[in-house]
Amino acid sequence: MNMMRKWWTTIFLIDMMIGLLLFCTFGAKRAEQEAVEGWAKGALPQYQESDERVKIALTFDDGPHPYYTEQLLDGLKERGVHATFFVTGEHAALHPDIIERMQKEGHMIGNHTYSHIQLKKNNREEFKEELIKTNEVIKEITGNEVLYVRPPYGSWDKSFESELNMFPVLWTVDSLDWCSSNAACVVKRVVEKAEENDIILMHDYYESSVTAALEVVDELMKEGFSFVTVEEILFD
Ligand code: ZN
Repeated sequence: MNMMRKWWTTIFLIDMMIGLLLFCTFGAKRAEQEAVEGWAKGALPQYQESDERVKIALTFDDGPHPYYTEQLLDGLKERGVHATFFVTGEHAALHPDIIERMQKEGHMIGNHTYSHIQLKKNNREEFKEELIKTNEVIKEITGNEVLYVRPPYGSWDKSFESELNMFPVLWTVDSLDWCSSNAACVVKRVVEKAEENDIILMHDYYESSVTAALEVVDELMKEGFSFVTVEEILFD
């Protein structure tokens, strides 16, 4: 009887030791896994330029708007994010201080014609004049030549590239922000479509676009995207 009890005690102790060993091994593994998942879920470190991240570009057309563009610039600055603004000459001339701020804060500025004119068969010269006039307005403020143009409605004539030394920048993801004031809907659309090196089209001319754009930045940064100017996507 005594022998039997001793035997069972030994088995019990061995069992306890195996249990403890398993607990330590898997417990440590689990803690490690949770740490990795936590990082992936949003406990991201602050964005750093040196991070190996997936590039994507936000572009904003039609501005600058006297109120919404400043709001957007505040949000981008808080997040350390750079974007590209295709401004009209008309709006740039009205708000040179905002153009200056864009440049100071590291954003890229492109041409979106003077009065948001669409290139058609019969207005080639007028369109070209609008591009030149807008370049002059921007250069007057920033001191820099303007190389990129987002032609309104995407209509372009390739011969302008050699005539004006300007290059068109179209887009790969259309947020359709101009036709929906529902920011959540716009965010969902962009986040679902976003892939590496995409160029996202938005407008800094609506309050809902500003809300949506900043949410897009937050969501995609959690997913490991890094926001850059279109130049960094086109020539990298
Ligand atoms: Zn436009």
